[in-house]
Amino acid sequence: MRLSRYFLPILKENPKEAEIISHRLMLRAGMIRQQAAGIYSWLPLGKKVLERINDIVREEQNRAGAIEIMMPTIQPADLWRESGRYDDYGQEMLRITDRHERDMLYGPTNEEMVTDIFRSYVRSYKDLPLNLYHIQWKFRDEVRPRFGVMRGREFLMKDAYSFDLDYEGAKAAYNRMFVAYLRTFERLGLKSIPMRADTGPIGGDLSHEFIILAETGESEVFCQKAFMDMGVPGEDVDFGDDGAIAAIVDRWTTPYAATDEMHDEAAWAGIAESDKVSARGIEVGHIFHFGTKYSEPLGATVAGPDGKDVPVSMGSYGIGPSRLIGAIIEASHDDNGIIWPKSVAPFGAVIINMKPGDADCDDWSERAYGALVNAGIDPLLDDTDQRPGAKFATADLIGLPWQIVIGPRGVKSGVVELKDRATGEKHELDLDAAIARVS
Ligand code: ATP
Ligand code: MG
Ligand code: MG
Ligand code: MG
Repeated sequence: MRLSRYFLPILKENPKEAEIISHRLMLRAGMIRQQAAGIYSWLPLGKKVLERINDIVREEQNRAGAIEIMMPTIQPADLWRESGRYDDYGQEMLRITDRHERDMLYGPTNEEMVTDIFRSYVRSYKDLPLNLYHIQWKFRDEVRPRFGVMRGREFLMKDAYSFDLDYEGAKAAYNRMFVAYLRTFERLGLKSIPMRADTGPIGGDLSHEFIILAETGESEVFCQKAFMDMGVPGEDVDFGDDGAIAAIVDRWTTPYAATDEMHDEAAWAGIAESDKVSARGIEVGHIFHFGTKYSEPLGATVAGPDGKDVPVSMGSYGIGPSRLIGAIIEASHDDNGIIWPKSVAPFGAVIINMKPGDADCDDWSERAYGALVNAGIDPLLDDTDQRPGAKFATADLIGLPWQIVIGPRGVKSGVVELKDRATGEKHELDLDAAIARVS
């Protein structure tokens, strides 16, 4: 992409409405535009990052055996009357009436709808396990939308739903999602900690929130230091091996970790001070086993091996890709702007042509651009006539992993400057070496 033809509405001033750094940087880098409280348009740079996150989420869901579908944002109230949640959900639900006076709603989540799909088609335990997911916009009329996309009213969610014959199967499904989440957040450049979460009337211990430690997090969290250097399973992890998957979950649930809601002062007191981390955290994912809570009232049953119909045992598994962008920036920025992890960077590198119109600078910039396009790096070429200072500021602000600076003096002596955005290290190299480094 050539910056002169792109749509990157950078803000020079610090937006006053933004209380936290990620929100400020997203507005300044021209990633989002607020349209109403907690409702945002995604501008090109923001949209690209969102899609890169979705791609990673999707790959890891697929790897763990989940199957992608797409359910609508608007749902009929009647489904929610069947589960009893239409009245229970309260004011977070946006209720809509259509022209025929039918009650509809903008989905805050999809347990009812996915259960309806299941009950319409699946009859036998032989079709299990099944895990269906989608990546779709949700609406929750939050009391206090804030921190930009971190707590929006309209926000993107990946929500998966597992169906199994019995608790054992449901637990194996839960474990697969647990491991998929560890891998997903690791690939996004984040250190996530699975923390015990409330299971409410369902009981049991199969509910975990995946938390990123951050000063601006909304929850107070407590965990052991052991999490800080625990290794995440590689892509060779075998999701077909229930025992191996369960062993990973065991390892990751052995040290203490809880949010304030589930915090156990007595257990905490038994841990050595030097091993304690008490901090604030951002909930980026949540997995939950709820058994027959929806399958029973909605009549989602399958015939078991003995021919008898049983309601299926279910779980749900959410990740917030839009919130994740905020969380990634909170975890990775400096005074000059965003520092994208390579896995989600909107472009792989920026080529800064310091003097557009200069034949040599133009020639070298085009060569670099062509080579990086061919290498699949998806470069951004700054071919604008901005001052060098402004170009550097923009490059730092939007935080692409590499900057290749091409200026008249360097070109004469046969070199470009390569800057690593994360470390700030700069090297003078010949053009081919710089391209090789970035590729
Ligand atoms: P919170 O405690 O922050 O209100 P939640 O527990 O209500 O979140 P879940 O119902 O568990 O959220 O939804 C799954 C995921 O969706 C969350 O872990 C989070 O990543 C994301 N999410 C939830 N609410 C929002 C929101 N208002 N804005 C952006 N992302 C959200
Ligand atoms: Mg909530
Ligand atoms: Mg929560
Ligand atoms: Mg939650």
